[in-house]
Amino acid sequence: MLIHSETEMLKYGQKLGANLKAPAVLELLGDVGAGKTTLVRGIAKGMGVKEDVTSPSFTISKEYQGRDARLVHYDFYRLADPGIMAEDLAETIADSNTITIIEWGNTIQNILPASRKIIEIKYINEATRELIEK
Ligand code: ADP
Ligand code: MG
Repeated sequence: MLIHSETEMLKYGQKLGANLKAPAVLELLGDVGAGKTTLVRGIAKGMGVKEDVTSPSFTISKEYQGRDARLVHYDFYRLADPGIMAEDLAETIADSNTITIIEWGNTIQNILPASRKIIEIKYINEATRELIEK
C-alpha cells in the first residue's frame, strides 16, 4: 500500500500498535530514511507509550513501557558483529510481555522466530512510501 505522508505513517503505526498482542516480533526492512523508525513511533503511540521514541543507533536497543506490554526497539545498523546484543535480543524475544521491533536485523536472522511479522518500507518520493507486509 502507498503511504503519502509522515502523518499517515504514524497513523498506520498507531493502529498496528493498538492491535499488537505480546509476545510479538516485528522486523522492519528498508533503506536509511525509508521511515522504519517513524513507523515504530506510531506503533509506540498505539501501544500507549508516553515517552518520545528515538533511533536506538548508539545504544542498539531502547526500551519503553506501554499500556499493556513493553516495547523493545533494536537497530543493528552497521554492527558487523552483534556480540552480546544477540543474547540480549534472544532474551527479549523470549519475554511473553514484550513487543520486539528490529531494524537492520541482517546479522541476527538466526535469532528471529519464523512467526515474526515482516514489513518492508520503500522510498517512492520525498513524502510517499510503499509499505509491504510480508
Ligand atoms: P529509517 O528509520 O528507515 O532510517 P526514519 O523514520 O528515521 O527512517 O526517517 C524517515 C524520514 O522520512 C523522516 O525524516 C520522515 O519525516 C520522512 N518522511 C517523509 N515522508 C514519510 C512517510 N510517508 N513515511 C515515513 N517517513 C517519511
Ligand atoms: Mg531507523
